[in-house]
Amino acid sequence: MRHFPAFFDLNGRPVVVVGAGAVALRKIRLLLRAGARIAVVAPRANADVAVLAQAGALVWHARPFAAGDVAGAALAFGATDDAAVNRAVSEAAQAAGVPVAIVDSPKLSTFITPAIVDRDPITVAIASGGASPVLARRIRARIEALLPARLGALARFAESFRGSVAAMRPTFAARRRWWEDFFEGPLATRVLAGDEQGVRRAFVATLNRTPPRAEGRVALVGAGPGDPDLLTLRALQRLQDADAVVHDRLGTERALDYARRDADFIPVGKAPGHKGPAQDEINALLLSLAREGKRVVRLKGGDPFIFGRGGEELEFLRAHGIDVEIVPGITAATGAAASAGVPLTHRGMARAVTFVTAATAEGIDAIDWAALAQLGQTVVVYMGVAAAGEVAQRLIAHGLDAATPVAAVENATLPEQRIVTGRLADLAALMRQHGVQNPAVIVIGEVAAFAEEAASVARFAAAS
Ligand code: SAH
Repeated sequence: MRHFPAFFDLNGRPVVVVGAGAVALRKIRLLLRAGARIAVVAPRANADVAVLAQAGALVWHARPFAAGDVAGAALAFGATDDAAVNRAVSEAAQAAGVPVAIVDSPKLSTFITPAIVDRDPITVAIASGGASPVLARRIRARIEALLPARLGALARFAESFRGSVAAMRPTFAARRRWWEDFFEGPLATRVLAGDEQGVRRAFVATLNRTPPRAEGRVALVGAGPGDPDLLTLRALQRLQDADAVVHDRLGTERALDYARRDADFIPVGKAPGHKGPAQDEINALLLSLAREGKRVVRLKGGDPFIFGRGGEELEFLRAHGIDVEIVPGITAATGAAASAGVPLTHRGMARAVTFVTAATAEGIDAIDWAALAQLGQTVVVYMGVAAAGEVAQRLIAHGLDAATPVAAVENATLPEQRIVTGRLADLAALMRQHGVQNPAVIVIGEVAAFAEEAASVARFAAAS
């Protein structure tokens, strides 16, 4: 992070602005709103600045800048069009230990002013670390459009009830939940529409009536195949509301960045060198977190109901009376198919698609290979890297053409994605030769031929 974000309390504190043109005026207007005591130093001033000085809103020293001007200031701004003066302001401020911002000169500044979306007291600040002010402004425009105009009024409304809510909802968790329900509910919508007075009465009535909910709940959330852009909006909401995130170690790393920062993060999955806790222990952990009244997200790679043991967790938690919600995710097969350009079903080529795991507790021969070897369908093998040779050999033994196209997609949807293509007979050799590793899925069937082009493009990109 190039700059540390922070908000200054300037109420009643001295701030020096050197320069009194249009740019300085913009800063001065903001500083006035923050309640700063402003001293402007400039031989000549913009008419508006002069008017503000006459009205007593600021003090204008009509003379050139002198190093002593920054002494004791909370902040200093340099907004002149004279590079030498700006440099002098920067040097004097830094020598005096006063934070300084020189307009359009990050090099001379010790802090920068962000683009802001102002819904006082809610302020959204956007900075690009100087990388692209234009991009920062575009982001601001999008956030402007997103936030209701009366958001500030809503925040003030909530502030006026902080004490009462704290009295009625003594625990932190209960308070947070109360406010979340409020902000999501119809009362907040009415405040935003301007009906503050009407809502006050309803707010108090609800606060007195509704008993705080004691039980927590668990959401089994699919994190998708890896690229966080493929999270669903609901997954994002649950992650942002979570008190605890119990997550697989593999395949959820990037999604975790989208979770509430002060949630508890509890890794439970397997990882290289980590066996991870047994399913029973995970179940017990989810139960005890929910019983503490927490909003728990159980985050799994892909979809929780596809080779994710989501069903077992659902059954266990429901049997113990816990509310469980399932938030589906994009499974590795569809993620890989999308990035490899492979339609899993295709007219005249594949009328069905089967997801199968090569790693079953009962062993590979428990799988109905004859059913999988049917023509006219696509098979996607999960957890099949180690067993690729056996998979191919059994499918061929049960009648599938040895020349059937195959595509292995490693790290699907991630920047390090690789696609390896070939024929079923050569599957094991291909995987070995390219060193394909977990996580990878293997697509077997006529449609896998579509991946060849994607694979050659990927190879081209790697070579160039
Ligand atoms: N619930 C997950 C699957 C968990 S089993 C889902 O719906 O996707 C783990 C297996 O998923 C891995 O062995 C691999 O076969 C597959 N997998 C998960 N993420 C993958 C990815 N990004 N690329 C390719 N395969 C992946």
